[in-house]
Order: sequence, then structure tokens, then C-alpha cells
Amino acid sequence: MSERVSGGERLSEPRTDGGVGRASGGASGGASGGASGGAPASDAGGGVAVAPPASEPVNLLLVDDRPENLLALEAILEPLGQHLVRANSGHEALRELLRRDFAVILLDVQMPGMNGFEVAQVIKSREKTKHIPIIFLTAISKEDIYVFKGYEVGAVDYMSKPFNPDILRSKVSVFIDLYRKQQQILRQEQLLRESERRELELRHRAQLLEREAQLAEIVDSAMDAIITFDESGRVTLFNAAAERMFRRKASDVIGGPVTALFPTGFRTARIMEFCDSPAAAAAAAGPPDADAAALAAAAASRQVPHALTGMRAGGDEFPLEVTVSCLRLPSGAVYTLIGRDVTERQRADDALRRQTQEIADTSEQLRVVNDELKMRQLQLEEAMRARNRFYASMSHELRTPINAIIGYNTLLLDNIYGPLNEKQVHGIQRTHKAAKHLLELVNDVLDLSKIEAGKIELSLQPVVFPALVEDLFVTVRPLADEHRTELTMESETDGPRSIVSDPRRVRQILLNLLSNAIKFGEKKPIRVRVVARDDGGVDVSVIDQGVGISEEDLPRIFDEFVQVSNAHQREGGTGLGLPISQRLAQLLGGTLAVQSAPGKGSNFTLSLPKTADPRLDGAIAERRGSGVQRAVEFHATPQSPPPPPGPDGGAPGADGRAA
Ligand code: ADP
Repeated sequence: MSERVSGGERLSEPRTDGGVGRASGGASGGASGGASGGAPASDAGGGVAVAPPASEPVNLLLVDDRPENLLALEAILEPLGQHLVRANSGHEALRELLRRDFAVILLDVQMPGMNGFEVAQVIKSREKTKHIPIIFLTAISKEDIYVFKGYEVGAVDYMSKPFNPDILRSKVSVFIDLYRKQQQILRQEQLLRESERRELELRHRAQLLEREAQLAEIVDSAMDAIITFDESGRVTLFNAAAERMFRRKASDVIGGPVTALFPTGFRTARIMEFCDSPAAAAAAAGPPDADAAALAAAAASRQVPHALTGMRAGGDEFPLEVTVSCLRLPSGAVYTLIGRDVTERQRADDALRRQTQEIADTSEQLRVVNDELKMRQLQLEEAMRARNRFYASMSHELRTPINAIIGYNTLLLDNIYGPLNEKQVHGIQRTHKAAKHLLELVNDVLDLSKIEAGKIELSLQPVVFPALVEDLFVTVRPLADEHRTELTMESETDGPRSIVSDPRRVRQILLNLLSNAIKFGEKKPIRVRVVARDDGGVDVSVIDQGVGISEEDLPRIFDEFVQVSNAHQREGGTGLGLPISQRLAQLLGGTLAVQSAPGKGSNFTLSLPKTADPRLDGAIAERRGSGVQRAVEFHATPQSPPPPPGPDGGAPGADGRAA
């Protein structure tokens, strides 16, 4: 028991009669019910039944400026078995409140310096302490106004001195209980939150594991090698494609240095440098947007493929193309290489490059050759033109004296200059024959050069078959008789077949073919077959059963001055008949073809179109022989008979060839 002097009142002995202590309805009501959860609550009415501490003792703050009052309070509250904290002033009380939490504060109202109300105001204004219940203790007044003031500043109860110890204990017990319950609720809340957090964590973990399994599946089935390594260059992942590519087992590689996968001298820093893009630098600079920058850096480095050289288990090196992703995590950077063996691609690229170079070289060579060829062609064309000019003028010049020789020979043989003896006749006959051959040659040369110079003019008229062939038979009959050769004609024209062509040139071709057939026909019968084609054209075949032409000679016989060497070559000829015939056939829009077998005979077929005039039939123009120019003149006059033979060389020669 102690006394307080300043307030002029005594701290009374503990009483059991209920005293003057008052408890708020809520507080006292809660006293019996609130404590029931843990231990029996104190009974305000009969005897003291202090509930044993449910668990740890709680803190009770006793504030009074008088030590004796504090002692008295301690004595009353001791039996509650709690941790009693003393404060001699408002300031000390506030200091204690900063240090620990309290279940209840017993606050003396009248204190020097800061009085109880002021202390209560500070307590209630602090977030951390505003929930702590305050019981005001006072001896001053029991007046309502004072009590109200206490409640106003946040008191939960108000006790006037002298206190009834039981009531005080009972009230304090209620708050202890309340505090404990609050603590319990807090703990339960914490537990609940903890278990919720754990559940969430487990769920996340399960999801993570699932994702990880998925990712592992993807990584392992990827076509590209996927390798990850940490900041120290230790491999942390090596997928199946990487195993195949590097021919190493993941178990041998994981945990080892990534440099083992590259030729000696390879620096891991090189890969790390791939991440040092401007974006990566921004990421390294840190906040404000470090995450975004880090992601941007990772994305930037991923997009650029880098060329490296990998090394397989056996030491074989191979070209490797990689993209690098650098992920800077709080636990350290993770580098991911996604690589592709580009050996095949490089090989194909090299081959392509070589081919392209070769093609470029070849095309350059071709261009040079082409230029040269073009130049030669121009030179050749010029030479041909010069030759043709020469042939034309020479032929022309030669024909006059030859014709004079032939004319005078004829006069001599006709005994115009008096009778000739047998020897003279024989000599002049030989001169005559030679001159005729010369004329024939000159005419052929002139013809050919005219054709090649494009100076042959066609006179297009209706040409009727088989009449034209029958006509020709009359012309060649003497030669055939001379060779004792039979001529027959087979016509498959179903009546006359008229085409538009140049009759003179058609005759020239056919006469040439017939005279050749007679010359090389070995006196066996010659057939001329005339067939009217469905397209309106006509095929005329001159078929003999003579010496024939060997397979190797066949392609040459249409060349100029070619005379296939055989026993019949003594028959004379210029070697220009077939080339002229072929060119004329082309000029007429037709073709001249040959089939032959040595010893069996030859078949020369002249195919002529329905019309040789391109204005009348466009298709003919396409079928025209290449390189042969035509100057076509269309005459609607009827077919004229062949000109009579004469000594001027314009008539058929000894072999029936037209000039
Ligand atoms: P030429 O008859 O004036 O010698 P051609 O150009 O008409 O000249 O004939 C060229 C060569 O083709 C002849 O020399 C001959 O060797 C061969 N030839 C042409 N027609 C026949 C044929 N019907 N049978 C066998 N050989 C032929």
C-alpha cells in the first residue's frame, strides 16, 4: 500500500465490495463471456477467480507519476500473472508504447507535465497504438464531465480511486482476454493467409512443373540444337538435336564448359558480346524500365543469326549458325544458343557460287565467240555478195563468147563453110560438146548466184498436174531414148490438180531430177509419181532403180559442186543441179527430199504447196526455205509452153537442164 501526495488522495486497500469502480456495460459483459474461450474469467461478484495465462504473459502498461501508486497497482495485478510494465510519466509511457505492444493501459489522469488525457490523445492518434484499450485511473472526480472527457479521448473504462482490486483485476482480465482473442484471431488470420499462400504456391509450382515438362518436350523435339549456359560458361541444358549435332551426350556436356563445344581458342565472352547491343546496354543501366530493356535486348540478340564454328566429339569442325538469347535474371544471366549445322547449306551456296561464276565466265567467253562469229558472218556475207557479183558478171561475160563458139561450131557442122572431113567433124563435135558443157556450167553458176542474191523473180501462175509432167516427158524423151530408159508416170491426182507456182522453175527442178535419174538410173525404168495432197499441194516423186547414193553421201548432195564419186560420173554434170533445185523448191514454198540406197535406186520428191504466193497463203511463208530470199511477181497469165531449144544457152542443155 502506498500513498500519493500530489493528488491529495489515497490509494485505498483492495476491496471486495464492488466499491465505486465502474465498468462499461460492454467491458463487464465481455468479462464473463469473453474469457470463456480460454480459462474462467474473473468474477466481479463473488471471489477472485483469476484466469491463468492462456499462453505467454501479455504486456500491461501501468502509468502513474507516483511510485507508490504503481506499486499498489502492481500488487493488485500481480495475480493475473502478466508482464507489468511501469511508466512514471506520459512521455515514458509513450516511449514504452513504441517498444512493444500492450493488451491494456492503466493510465493515471493527473500527472505533472503531460496529463492522462493528453497521453491518451497521442496514443489514439498513432496507428500502431490506437486500438489499445485505456482504463483511466483517477481520484479527482467522479463527476460525469470528467468521465466524459476520458471517454472522449478514447478510454474504454474509467476507475476512480480507491479501486476495488477484484473489479480492477476483473476489468483488466477482460482486456487481457480480448487481447488474447485478438492475437489468436490475428494468428489464425496469419495461418489462413499462410496456408492460402502455400496453396497458391503449390498451385504455381504444379503449373510451373507442367510448363517445364512441356518446355522440356519442345526443347527435346526441336530440330535445332538448344544449349543454355550460365555466366560462368557452364552448360545447363543440351537438347537431343545438340547431341546429334555435336555427337556428344547431354550427360557428358551438362555442367562442363561451353567452350568444349567449340574449337580451341573460342571465348565464351564472344557469345556474351552478342548481347551487348544498345538495347542490352540500356538494360544494364537499370531502372526505370530495366525489365522492358532486358526483354528488348534478349529479343534483339535473338533476331540476329551469328556464324560460329562448332566442334564435334571427334574434333571435326563444322559451320554453325546461331541465334543467342541473353536473359538477365536476378540469380544471374542465362545464355541460350539455338544453333543449326549449315554445312550442307554452305556447300550448296559454294556450289551455287562456283556455278554462277562458271556461268558468268562461260557467258563472257560465249559473248566473245558470238561477237567473233557475228563479225565472221558479216565478213562471210560480204564475201558471198562479192562472189555472187563476180559470178554474175563473169557468167554474163562468158556466155557471149561461148555462144559464139557454139554458133560457129553449128555452122561448121552444118557444112555452111564447106564440107568437113571425118576428123574435122569429130574435132568440132568435141569442141561443141565442151562448149555446151561450159555454157551449162556458166548458166548454173549464174542461176545459183541469182538465187543467193535474191534476184530470182518468180512468175506465179496456175500450174496443172499431171499435165506439166507429161509435157516434160516430151522434153526429156530424146535423152531417155539415148540411154534406152523407159519413162512412166503414175498419177494420183483424181483429175487435174492446179496449184499456183512458177511453171518455169517447177520444170527446171523436175528436168534436173529426171536427167539425173536417167544418168544414174542404169537404164532401168523410171517412174514419176504425182500425188495430190489433202492440203491442196502436190508431191512429185522421180523414182529410179539405179546406182543410188550411200548414206554418208546423202547429206552432201545438196551442197554446191558435190559430185558423188562413182562410175557414172563420166556422165558429166556440174554438181550444181541439186543445190539449185533445192533452193528453187524452197523459193516456191516447197521442199526437195531424197531417199536412196546404193544399188537400189533413189527417190527424189518435190513437194509444192497449194500456192507459192505468200499473199494467198500465209502458211507458205513459214514453210519457205531459210536463207533463200524471194522476189515474187504474180502473173495471172495461163501457163506458157517451154521455150524452144536454141544455141544461145537459154534453152535446155544436152542433159535437158533448163537455163
Ligand atoms: P550433177 O548431176 O550435175 O553432177 P547434181 O547436183 O544434179 O549435179 O547432182 C550431184 C550428185 O548427186 C551427182 O553428181 C550424183 O553423184 C548424185 N546424184 C544425183 N542424182 C542422183 C540419182 N538419181 N542417183 C544417183 N546419184 C545421184
